[in-house]
Amino acid sequence: SDASQTLGFQAEVKQLLHLMIHSLYSNKEIFLRELVSNASDACDKLRFEAIDQPALLDGEGELHVRVDFDKAARTITISDNGVGLSREEAVANLGTIARSGTREFFSKLTGDKQKDAQLIGQFGVGFYSSFIVADKVTVRSRRAGAPADQGIIWESDGQGEFTIAASEKATRGTDVVLHLRADEDEFLSGWKLREVLRRYSDHISLPVQMLKEEWDKDKSEQVKTDEWESVNQANALWTRSKSEVSDEQYREFYKHVSHDFDDPLAWTHNRVEGRSEYTQLLYVPKHAPFDMWDRDARRGVKLYVKRVFIMDDAEQMLPSYLRFVRGVIDSADLPLNVSRELLQESRDVKAIREGSTKRILSLLEDLAENKKEDYATFWTEFGQVLKEGTGEDSGNIERIAKLLRFASTYEDSDAQTVTLADYVTRFKDGQDKIYYVTADSYTAGRNSPHLEIFRKKGIEVLVLWDRVDEWMLSHLREFDGKQLVSVAKGGLDLEALADEQEKKHQTEVAEQFKPLVERLQEALKDRVKEVRVTLRLVDSPSCVVVGQNDLSPHLQRMLKAAGQ
Ligand code: ADP
Ligand code: MG
Repeated sequence: SDASQTLGFQAEVKQLLHLMIHSLYSNKEIFLRELVSNASDACDKLRFEAIDQPALLDGEGELHVRVDFDKAARTITISDNGVGLSREEAVANLGTIARSGTREFFSKLTGDKQKDAQLIGQFGVGFYSSFIVADKVTVRSRRAGAPADQGIIWESDGQGEFTIAASEKATRGTDVVLHLRADEDEFLSGWKLREVLRRYSDHISLPVQMLKEEWDKDKSEQVKTDEWESVNQANALWTRSKSEVSDEQYREFYKHVSHDFDDPLAWTHNRVEGRSEYTQLLYVPKHAPFDMWDRDARRGVKLYVKRVFIMDDAEQMLPSYLRFVRGVIDSADLPLNVSRELLQESRDVKAIREGSTKRILSLLEDLAENKKEDYATFWTEFGQVLKEGTGEDSGNIERIAKLLRFASTYEDSDAQTVTLADYVTRFKDGQDKIYYVTADSYTAGRNSPHLEIFRKKGIEVLVLWDRVDEWMLSHLREFDGKQLVSVAKGGLDLEALADEQEKKHQTEVAEQFKPLVERLQEALKDRVKEVRVTLRLVDSPSCVVVGQNDLSPHLQRMLKAAGQ
């Protein structure tokens, strides 16, 4: 209907608005980044829809974003001639947060401004950041393809409700009008806005324009002319050569594509030529998104074909264990009308996925080698996901194995810092295997009775307790030709490590306890395979081990807990 309606924000939006206004105040300029970012996305979407319906682009010249201000009215307006919003889209997109896990996310907020500001940043603030500087926001929009009388007007003071009504709009696209709060007059300046735009939006691939200003001698101030001029370079950042892009620009571009608030940890930017041709600009974030373990979470990169935006979250471009990677892939080979279904079967996509995987592994290897602290951050945030690669990507298992980090009895700490290569350099004479224990926690692992003999002999044992570890170990059977062996398995083959005296001792003890062993064997015959005298224990009298080829006790418990 055309009638004006007043609707309530989703509860989480209300919380977000409240928190943002109070916690992001020291970073308030980001509203401009977010609104220009949205305007640019809207133009990208229109260009995509126009692949099938070229008429959508009629009538308005080149796609652009425009920023203007009105000193008297105390407003800033961000306009685009992109895809626009229908009434339904405005209600859905400017009144709710359409991300899975949003409620859980908000339940984690603590009330501590600083911590929450960090968390909100990870969440992405987007359109709602307007309310940091504005006490009223008016959005006028017209969907591409809709006639002038089907425009809409959305308005809110950010207090909990918004109104939506029909409103004639002469041009396609969206105007966001910010009615500034009382002390935000600094933004009513062409100089100030240009400065912020240059800092935050230089990577935007469309022209971002402002009205040219001239010095007025009579008034003795800068006055606006009626001529629009670009304030950015307006070519897609990833098409520029590396030497033309500053670190600052790479960082801002990351924030645009990832909807992250924080800087990235590292990036890799390459143009690949040859059988398949594409450009990749891929980033590793500094922190895991709150929904990394959510099946429905956004993942993947933005896909472009010859600089035309095709889709967000193209998860086919990378294997699932690299789902934390963000960025852009621009293919020269894929057809413009490519669909998600087509992507799944495409040989070009396969080549891109393999190439991108190698680039990310190289990037991680480089961090591990040259920026150890950054790698430690990476490992803490994404180590558990990377471990999935041992099963998912057997072709790269050796490279992945080198990137793994473990806690071990050598460091006697739950910090995961030990590499398999470190472990191998500490082999004792006669040792040819890598030993590990799996448990529910680090403490449970390191206190396992199975470790006694290893401790006595000074042999290092890796301690694993992550959820994915058992699964990883079922794929990662060896490293550098050395087997990975659980200390909880029978036939540990520790004889090679025993000295002559120990061997003699074992034979004597076995002889001495033969009658006892036989009685135990008889008594437990329905419950255990075999009773054996062992040297593996030092302080404990006995322990249960599993057969060489049986499931480990930890995995058995996990399967039982999962109802299997
Ligand atoms: P995000 O950009 O991460 O999706 P935002 O809060 O910035 O989240 O924006 C929410 C949604 O509002 C966008 O996904 C888009 O659907 C819609 N939107 C915002 N600004 C515009 C615009 N200028 N033109 C069209 N749609 C827009
Ligand atoms: Mg946005």
